[in-house]
Amino acid sequence: MSKGGFSCVMCKNISGRNAGIKFFRFPKDPEMSKLWLKSCNRMIDRTTEELYKNYRICSDHFNENMYLNDLKTRLLPAAIPNAT
Ligand SMILES: [Zn+2]
Repeated sequence: MSKGGFSCVMCKNISGRNAGIKFFRFPKDPEMSKLWLKSCNRMIDRTTEELYKNYRICSDHFNENMYLNDLKTRLLPAAIPNAT
């Protein structure tokens, strides 16, 4: 994987290749992290820390009302991706 290139846990989107799509780290909060994983509907046997560092979910999986700002670069603390 090239530097700065992230792939989405939930789909085939890759950062840099898909213009306009943003990538969000897994939450640092263990409970939120679990909720994100649940939405992914995938078994990923990693710690919260590892998920935070290495895993991303792209902006395709978040509703409009889950963003903090109009640019949609920041998620609300309680934002959870849409379940697959
Ligand atoms: Zn995605």
